[in-house]
Amino acid sequence: MNRTKKKNFLYIDLSKPMTYGDQFKLMFIIMFISCVLFTLIYLFSLIGRNGKADTPSSAEVSSAEASYSVPNEEQPSVSSEVSQVSEMNTEFFDDIETLHLKYDEIYKGDLILVNKNYKCPSDGENVVSLKDLKTDSYVITDYSVSLDKDIIVYLNQMLDDFEELYGENDVMVACGYRSYSNQEEIFDNEVEEVGVEEAEKWVARPGYSEHQTGLVLDFTLDNDSEQGSIKYDGTDIYEWINKNSYKYGFILRYPVGKEEITGYSPEPWHFRYVDFPAAFYIMQNEITLEEYIDAVRKHDINSPLLIDGGGENKWYVYYVPANEDSETEVPVPKNGNYKISGDNVQGFIITADVDIKG
Ligand SMILES: [Zn+2]
Repeated sequence: MNRTKKKNFLYIDLSKPMTYGDQFKLMFIIMFISCVLFTLIYLFSLIGRNGKADTPSSAEVSSAEASYSVPNEEQPSVSSEVSQVSEMNTEFFDDIETLHLKYDEIYKGDLILVNKNYKCPSDGENVVSLKDLKTDSYVITDYSVSLDKDIIVYLNQMLDDFEELYGENDVMVACGYRSYSNQEEIFDNEVEEVGVEEAEKWVARPGYSEHQTGLVLDFTLDNDSEQGSIKYDGTDIYEWINKNSYKYGFILRYPVGKEEITGYSPEPWHFRYVDFPAAFYIMQNEITLEEYIDAVRKHDINSPLLIDGGGENKWYVYYVPANEDSETEVPVPKNGNYKISGDNVQGFIITADVDIKG
């Protein structure tokens, strides 16, 4: 008999059937080892998390020309932010109220998506001729050039600023709103000239042209020395317009390298109004309207996308899918500044000022 071993509390003689005491000891050993393992795993996970927090996560933005600093610009892929929702929730909006929107409201607003898949829902309801509303800092091809009446003021501001900087007023709005029948004519002519396949790279089918929204314009240049006009390509002094248009709410709708997403070859003369926060986010992140809407769809009111334009220029953007059969309840900040736009696909985008408390 080995007395010393028997005296050890944890000793179990495996050559004999286990007593209750032995079973208790075995359980104790297993629980002790489990506790140690769990503690170790927990400690390692803490170390891992701290390590991650040290690496910079803010987006790189190309802001050479931007007058807004973007300290914490969020990227379109922001699902990692969701975990912070519950603790940030009360900070987003002080008070919420609920609007009841009809389904067809998704077809209205500055952010409606019109491309080869999504037809333009309107046909000139809000457009007016530029002739009496434009400033002298630019020209129009003829009196029929029209735009959505609410965006003309921003076009005027942009080209007034351009003229002040460069002393030129030869930018010409060649085309703004285009009616369905007008687009039909253009498309048919193009098809006749180059065939359907080639025509579709440049010209939208009737009903699918963004120009039908009234939120879009094409620039050209007024040039007396040449018969008619020469094409605007956003180079030379005009590069300023292409780089700064977002400050006035306009984006370059068909940028280089995004043909697969937009469905169109690059058009440095084709500008689309989307309002400032969206334009800022789109241009800074070098994305398209399609990608912006996709990004916003990942955010509801409890986890809004933050657009940080620096200083007090901050917005929360979130998405509410629309009900087809009944009115949609859309939560909005009570007493806050916000804008609602349909996406022309399936829901509403709410862009709300961040209430700077202080
Ligand atoms: Zn165009």
